[in-house]
Amino acid sequence: MKEKIKKWIECFVEEYQKRPDILAKWGQPLAQFAQADHPYIQNLPALIPGHQLPQEVLPGAVSILVYYIPFTRELARTNQGKEELASAQWARTYEETNAMFRDLNEQLSAWLGEKGVRAAVPEASSTFDQKALMSGWSHRHFAWAAGLGTFGMNNMLITRQGCCGRFFSLVTDLEVETDVPVQGEYCLYKQDQSCGVCMEYCPAQALSPQGYDRQSCYKILQKNAQVHTGYGSSYVSADKVTPNSPGSDVCGKCVANAPCAFRGFGPERKRENVCC
Ligand code: SF4
Ligand code: SF4
Repeated sequence: MKEKIKKWIECFVEEYQKRPDILAKWGQPLAQFAQADHPYIQNLPALIPGHQLPQEVLPGAVSILVYYIPFTRELARTNQGKEELASAQWARTYEETNAMFRDLNEQLSAWLGEKGVRAAVPEASSTFDQKALMSGWSHRHFAWAAGLGTFGMNNMLITRQGCCGRFFSLVTDLEVETDVPVQGEYCLYKQDQSCGVCMEYCPAQALSPQGYDRQSCYKILQKNAQVHTGYGSSYVSADKVTPNSPGSDVCGKCVANAPCAFRGFGPERKRENVCC
């Protein structure tokens, strides 16, 4: 079943990007499962105030399907450099990806339902608390528990295919062999401080060895949202209706410029072919 689900997601993305009304292209998706009662997941409300548990989203939850859809190197190139604002292509692809997620999750849930598997997506996945600057549903933390990668200095989860892409997660009651968190680090700075590109390119100086300054980062996202107003706005406030922004809350300089954009640095740490 696990392989069938991965294949289903791959086929969906391949077909979706043929649509004439979108410009986005995506790479090969990754999909893995986390155990719903994994101690790391059960501890998320303590780590992130207001974070929901899988069992609150789907009574009887057993596993969480987490998938990663990579962007392309061509898209990353449009957003490289030290300009303060993101490229228009980046903003458009961000919104088109979020729109695709809605269709994908709906159709995947229906397909799973035909096979007797229940699946649910929490409302919190599309809301964002503008005061706390946190979501009540962190796809990236589920991705960590599902063994998809490790956190980098850029506050992204770096997979074996990099961090230039987007994650999504669905709670299911599927009894499946779940994956385990990655041992070690895919981020070069966390390995031996031999990188720091994401910190160097952040226009808000929001990244440093001391951590991630979400207030400074959000100011840049808001600046982008004032400019990139033509592609929609993916997130709504806690009232679940009002859009958070007039446009796209994007930036992505810390992934588009990063050597870990399209690969994770495993133990072998080879740096060839890292340029995006
Ligand atoms: S750019 Fe370098 S320091 Fe930043 S997350 Fe990637 S590997 Fe780590
Ligand atoms: S998204 Fe932009 S502002 Fe936020 S941490 Fe990354 S580079 Fe900095």
